[in-house]
Amino acid sequence: MTGSLVVIGTGPGRAELMTPATAAAIARATDLVGYGPYLARVPSQPGQCRHASDNRVELDRARHALSLAAAGRQVVVVSGGDPGVFAMAAAVFEAVEDGEPAWQDLDIRVEPGVTAMLAAAAEVGAPLGGDFCAISLSDNLKAWSTVERRLAAAAEADFVIALYNPASRARPHQLGRAFERLRVVKAAATPVLFVRAAGTPEVTVLATTLAEADPARADMRTLVIVGASRTRRIGRWVYTPRSER
Ligand code: SAH
Repeated sequence: MTGSLVVIGTGPGRAELMTPATAAAIARATDLVGYGPYLARVPSQPGQCRHASDNRVELDRARHALSLAAAGRQVVVVSGGDPGVFAMAAAVFEAVEDGEPAWQDLDIRVEPGVTAMLAAAAEVGAPLGGDFCAISLSDNLKAWSTVERRLAAAAEADFVIALYNPASRARPHQLGRAFERLRVVKAAATPVLFVRAAGTPEVTVLATTLAEADPARADMRTLVIVGASRTRRIGRWVYTPRSER
């Protein structure tokens, strides 16, 4: 049988936020490959092989998945959220680019998923109603100077900014440095949202301002949204109007 590889995202964590197309791809799989905690979100099926791995070995995991597909298996690579947003889809194509020529002819598909930024925005209203961008604060795969340059440019352009990977035990100081960089350009009263476990029953929201934002409030399950100049609060909601009026 010809193998295949589908890269999926589980959504932010609640089963209803996984798309039906993603669930169908999982149901057809013979092999699931992914980071342990994301694999744990996928209900187990008899006869399915699970290949759990550590978070830091994305390329090895991608190569493993490709070699299973080349051997005729129906492989699903599991990410959280959307697989194309700071996740496994890009790692799969990087592995294809540098890997065996035959991998380029494999049946590879990417299924879209609900990314954290969308789930977090929905928890608080419509903060992404105007132009926005997403920046990962992780410097595992890029230099911190690149992160700072992009933060400065995004602030200058008055984007709403969604910050993925705002903190981890290995990198406790980066969010504080990011806020410092943004304070140079953005107003002190700019709304800042810490949304933890968005789209799950454990969700918590902290709405504050750029002047008062405490980096210690973020962890690895938190998405931080920094408003644009027009982002505002109405009662318990935060939104960015679409019009410039
Ligand atoms: N592919 C994922 C993102 C992976 S990067 C996606 O599309 O959502 C991991 C980062 O995503 C976390 O550090 C956190 O900033 C964010 N994140 C993932 N799930 C989240 C959730 N349920 N609530 C808030 N942030 C989340």
